[in-house]
Amino acid sequence: MQSFNRRTVIAGGAALGTGLVGARYAHAQTAPDFAAARASANPLTPRREYIIRNAHLLTMDSSLGEIPAGDVHVRDGQIVAVGANIAAPNAEVIEGRGMICMPGFVDTHWHLWNCNCRQWVRTTDNRYSYFPLTSRIGVRTQPADAYRAARFGIAEGLLTGITTVHNWCHNTRGPAWADAEISAMRDMGIRGRYSYGGPQQGPTDKIMDLADLARTKKDWFVDPAATDGRLSLGICSRNLVPGQSLRGTITFDIAKRDWGGARELGLPITLHASPKDLVFELEKQGLLGADVQLVHPMFTVAEERAILKSRGTSFASSPIGEVQRPPDGGVVQINELLQSGVLTSLSLDETVAGNADYFNVMRVMFKYDKHRVGEGRDNLVTTKRLVEMATIDGAKALGLEKTTGSLTVGKRADIILIRGDDFNLAPLTNPWDAIVLHAQPNNVALVMADGRILAQDGKLSGIDHGKIMHEVRETNARLAVFADPS
Ligand SMILES: [Zn+2]
Repeated sequence: MQSFNRRTVIAGGAALGTGLVGARYAHAQTAPDFAAARASANPLTPRREYIIRNAHLLTMDSSLGEIPAGDVHVRDGQIVAVGANIAAPNAEVIEGRGMICMPGFVDTHWHLWNCNCRQWVRTTDNRYSYFPLTSRIGVRTQPADAYRAARFGIAEGLLTGITTVHNWCHNTRGPAWADAEISAMRDMGIRGRYSYGGPQQGPTDKIMDLADLARTKKDWFVDPAATDGRLSLGICSRNLVPGQSLRGTITFDIAKRDWGGARELGLPITLHASPKDLVFELEKQGLLGADVQLVHPMFTVAEERAILKSRGTSFASSPIGEVQRPPDGGVVQINELLQSGVLTSLSLDETVAGNADYFNVMRVMFKYDKHRVGEGRDNLVTTKRLVEMATIDGAKALGLEKTTGSLTVGKRADIILIRGDDFNLAPLTNPWDAIVLHAQPNNVALVMADGRILAQDGKLSGIDHGKIMHEVRETNARLAVFADPS
């Protein structure tokens, strides 16, 4: 955690006050400049040669398994050796004794553009519930706001051990917005996919901006150097099926043109897919495939899950939000998906009404499943299985299994260390239970993404916490006025 002195606390309190009241008039008409926001990013910490020694390795590589006192050797951003007593005379030693060493977490669905809207959602007044509120803010979001929000979210995500994020951007308002969020992902050092989506309150009777999608691919994703080799591109589809009207819905004909355009560019597709019978309908329309990720598994039936398995389509669950659905909103079907052999991953969805604590995502999923399905030998939702979903299965869902998701020689070095001797984890005897049942972000001792150390002991490395906070406060001071429905 960051340590705050008294002056920081006072300044923070003042900023909170002006964000909600005073600054709304002063800043409401002034959109921040993206170039200025972009210029404030610090250069990333360099990639060096490291050897992590004597850690309890959860490799998440099925051929390596667990190594109780192992080493991981990293050079030029790549894992070059995993095992015991590795010789690495030129490497900087990171002592891992007493720690769990594992791949960083892979989040597979997170709306980074709105994560600055924290504490504006109210469960007691549906005019301020998540959908209408973020929709109102969304249409006012300028590129600099999107940049700042994405950076703010990623900063929090890094501190919980997330090293890969799927930025599910259903508020791509134009080229500058896409560029802003891709820049934020690049500037923060994280790995991930940017999924280009339509703007909030955009027209639902027109196909998406495929020309700008192609432009985005050309500008950012042809030469890997443009994103430091860490990012990829996809699209997030607008909702299908009437009844999901809060964000608007498109017809299957328009979806076919959107999805077809993405597929012509070789880009994967993701879709919020909780409604009943939607998998049947997608299959009927010939839209499913291994390049499709669905989100929110609430109502599938066995036949639909068999279809998903046969098509290689994956499903992402966001348990924190899904368990909050009303009684008629379905159930979180992780258990059924695993039983059916569907590739299943975990995600945050949004952090407007929550936080990025990825341990909590696994924990809620575990507890909810036991509440709904019960305990027993046959229950596939074990703590180990949840850690797999949070790492290697997430990587598979994003098509990144050759790059990340396990401690495997040749993969990029996305690695976290978790202190096993913190009070809430000690004495460490079962690392899977420790991670899912007991851990919290302040147990994360080190976060390395693509061979760069981005966080240590609760503090970002080479990333200016104060600037990120200052800028998101500035953005929120401008946007706060639009939180009101009037
Ligand atoms: Zn979502």
